[in-house]
Order: sequence, then structure tokens, then C-alpha cells
Amino acid sequence: MDLYEHQARDLFVAHGVPVPRGVLATTPAGARGAAELLGLPVVVKAQVKTGGRGKAGGVKLARTPPEAQAVADSILGLDIKGHRVREVLVVEASAIAEEYYVAFLLDRANRTFLAMASVAGGMDIEQVAATRPDALVRLPVTDVDLAKAHEIVTAAKFPPEVADQVADVLVKLWRAFVAEDATLVEVNPLVRTEDGSVVALDGKVTLDGNAAYRHPGHASLADRRAENPLEAEAKDRGLNYVKLDGQVGVIGNGAGLVMSTLDVVARAGEAHGGVRPANFLDIGGGASATVMADGLDVILNDPDVRSVFVNVFGGITACDAVADGIVRALDVLGPTATKPLVVRLDGNNVAEGRRILAEADHPLVTVVDTMDDAADRAARLASREV
Ligand code: GDP
Ligand code: MN
Repeated sequence: MDLYEHQARDLFVAHGVPVPRGVLATTPAGARGAAELLGLPVVVKAQVKTGGRGKAGGVKLARTPPEAQAVADSILGLDIKGHRVREVLVVEASAIAEEYYVAFLLDRANRTFLAMASVAGGMDIEQVAATRPDALVRLPVTDVDLAKAHEIVTAAKFPPEVADQVADVLVKLWRAFVAEDATLVEVNPLVRTEDGSVVALDGKVTLDGNAAYRHPGHASLADRRAENPLEAEAKDRGLNYVKLDGQVGVIGNGAGLVMSTLDVVARAGEAHGGVRPANFLDIGGGASATVMADGLDVILNDPDVRSVFVNVFGGITACDAVADGIVRALDVLGPTATKPLVVRLDGNNVAEGRRILAEADHPLVTVVDTMDDAADRAARLASREV
């Protein structure tokens, strides 16, 4: 789960990372009040879970309270890369002398944590990373004490006058990263102000959903309004669902099988006008009729979906139970199920599974024996070539 800047900022405060004073506002008048409270000038910042707000006009300086109100009025309601602005964070403006970049993240490919740091931070950090890779240091880390923090500071060539302050910030950010089970903690920019202090001006934090059970407090950080409604619905029903941008709905049992299914559908789709998978949905081991019905319901409610590929490998839950689940799910859904289903069953008790589907003879269901043929069939149905 990604946090809003203001939530990341609260987390930084809790761990002693220096940030400017700030107040959250949901109305222009609220922003004006915040400016009066904080003192001037202030920066009014769109709260959306995406980067590049500055370049999109979502971060603006205001020198007077009425200006803060006007600026907030122009930012609230903006659409930034598909994210609607519902709140602004009003912070006391900092006089920036230099902009730096620091981050800790989980490096899955290398099975380690990574520290990243640069003295060329700010809005163009992506370009710096792409064109001057040596200006962004990357150090694998397993623990960050003060000595390790100084190693990062030295490797990134921070100026000596800020070395101690930056090292202190790094240790505190690392503590926040560990304590909150984050997979990313990023500060861009971390600034040196003209009076010589080091302050985190923008923060991005991603929390590890797999550790949610250890952090009852994290649930309250979720923002249902910003979630994809299908994903929210799936989460409520306890389904492992991720919305994608294609047209072929996918259901399978087991994350590995579903991921292979996405690949096979994408490959098959190339021959059918470039149709792609519409979602990831793993119904897990015990593919009961209820879970199948819930899964189909979520997928069939996706307006992008034109066909559905149900790909099941019978194991402990045998194919006959899954076939039974599909038939009963279609019964439950009744006339609300309107899109064609391509079903591929294999594994434990496959013959009985196929017999159940043949006997039910549902007009929407086609049974195809192999995964490749089924993917091709589903892609063709989604391409509207048929
Ligand atoms: P982002 O574009 O979404 O990363 O938003 P940021 O919060 O990082 O702000 C973008 C840019 O606005 C920063 O890189 C700074 O250059 C500038 N900015 C943000 N806050 C301040 C501030 O308090 N004072 C000044 N002078 N510039 C700021
Ligand atoms: Mn930023």
C-alpha cells in the first residue's frame, strides 16, 4: 500500500526525521486558515498517490493567506495522472539551497535491501538516474547504523557540512523502514536550507501488505476512495485480485498458474488484435462454488472484460469439484453472467470434471483441452473477430 505524502510525513515525524510544519486541508478556506496558522510563505501541495506533482501544477508557493486559498482552489479537484486531488497539504515554505535524494527499498531481484542516495535530487531524479547513473549511488544494506549511514553519505559525496545531519536522517529513515515493514521509504527532495538545516520536503512510503497483520494501525491509512472499485470489491470478498488493462478475464488456482496464464493470454492476444489479460485472479486451493462465483462475479462486472479464461489444474481440490463450482457459480449468477467462458481443466479427476461441464452444457461455456488452445480461443472471443 502506497501512502499519501502527508501520511509518510506523519511517519517521518514519529521517527524523528525533520520535516517542515504542515496542515492538511480539504477546502480552499481551510488552506487559507492553514497559511494563517503556519506563517508565510507556504507551499500548497496536492495529495495524490503519484509522483511528478510539481511538474503537473500540483505544488505551488503562496505568499499570503488569500493566495493560499486561491492556489488551493486551483489544485483541489485537479486530475493528476488519473488521480483526483481531494486534499492539499499546506506546509511552511523552505528556502532551498540544495536538493538531495535518499531512499531505502526492497531489492527483490538481488534479495536484499538497497540504499540509494544522490546529491542531484529534485524533480529530475529519474533523468539523473537514466543519464548519469554514477550520480545515484546504490548500496546493498542489511542494517543501517551510524557507521553504515556515513558510508552511504561518503559514497554519494554529500558536502561535509551536511554529512552528520544526512547520516542522522538515514538512520532514522531506516528505523522507520524496519519498524513499519515498508518496502520503500523515499525522500525527494531532502534539502539543505539556506540556514544550513537538512529537512525532508517530500516523502514516499510503500507498506508491505503481507505484514499488515503486525500493524493493526495500518488499516486506517487505506483510502477506499482512491482504490480501484473492482479491487476493493475483490478484497472485501477475500480474493487475490489485481486489475490489469486488457480484455480477457483470467481465473486460475495457484499464483504460479495464473501468472503463466497471463503470459499465454498476452502471447495468444498478439494474433488477435493485441488483446491482453484484464486481471490477475487466484482462487487458491479450495476452489469452492462460492469462491468461483465471487471470482466470476468480480470479473464479469469489469466493463473491460469481453471473455473469461478459467484455467484450473486439479490438485487437492479435484477437477470435478471445480467443474461443479463453475456450474453452480453460473446458477448463482443467472442472467447477470453474459460473457463467454473458456474453461481448461487438467489434473486430478479431469475426466469427471469435463463430464460435469459437458452435461451442464451451459451456453456460455466452452471447454478446451490445452492451455494454449484455450488462451487462443479466449483471445479470439475478446477480439470480437467471432
Ligand atoms: P513531486 O513533484 O510530486 O515530487 O513534489 P515535491 O514535494 O517533491 O515538490 C516538487 C518540487 O517543488 C521540489 O523538488 C522543490 O523544487 C519544490 N518545492 C517543494 N517544496 C518547496 C519549498 O518549501 N520551497 C521551495 N523553494 N521549493 C519547494
Ligand atoms: Mn518529490
